[in-house]
Amino acid sequence: MNDYKHILLAVNYSAQNDYVANKAKSLADTYQAKLSIIHVLDNIPMPDTNYGSVIPLKENSNYDLLEAEKTKLMELGKRLAVSEDNQWLVWGVPKEEIVEIATQQHIDLIVVGSHGRHGLALLLGSTANSILHHANCDVLAVRLLDN
Ligand code: AMP
Repeated sequence: MNDYKHILLAVNYSAQNDYVANKAKSLADTYQAKLSIIHVLDNIPMPDTNYGSVIPLKENSNYDLLEAEKTKLMELGKRLAVSEDNQWLVWGVPKEEIVEIATQQHIDLIVVGSHGRHGLALLLGSTANSILHHANCDVLAVRLLDN
């Protein structure tokens, strides 16, 4: 098996976010792989900007919600020692944008959390499930315990 070279951690800041993040960091350290992180904004309106769907972290906007999202991602990036060039804040549908960035950046492992849903919820599909079916690379679904 080839070692992983570039791992993408997808974060949604849920209660178990740190657990998934620590797994991704430990895998990156083990394989001496580059680590990137992505958060997709699907719950705040897109302000009237010239940006495409990828939001530049270095440019300040006048939009407080967006600045708060940038700060959250950059703090996590700092904690995981991920350079700013490898931090992705993107507008759109999480399952689609994560696969898109993974393809563009030649990611060979995507790390996501998974609630291991079953029954109707599985039929409706979770983010992890959809990424697993559409990604062109390996996907690690870190099982999260439902409270
Ligand atoms: P969910 O299907 O919402 O339970 O999310 C499962 C996993 O998908 C999360 O633990 C994250 O790894 C990833 N994910 C969900 N939503 C987002 C998002 N908006 N941005 C980045 N990753 C996400």
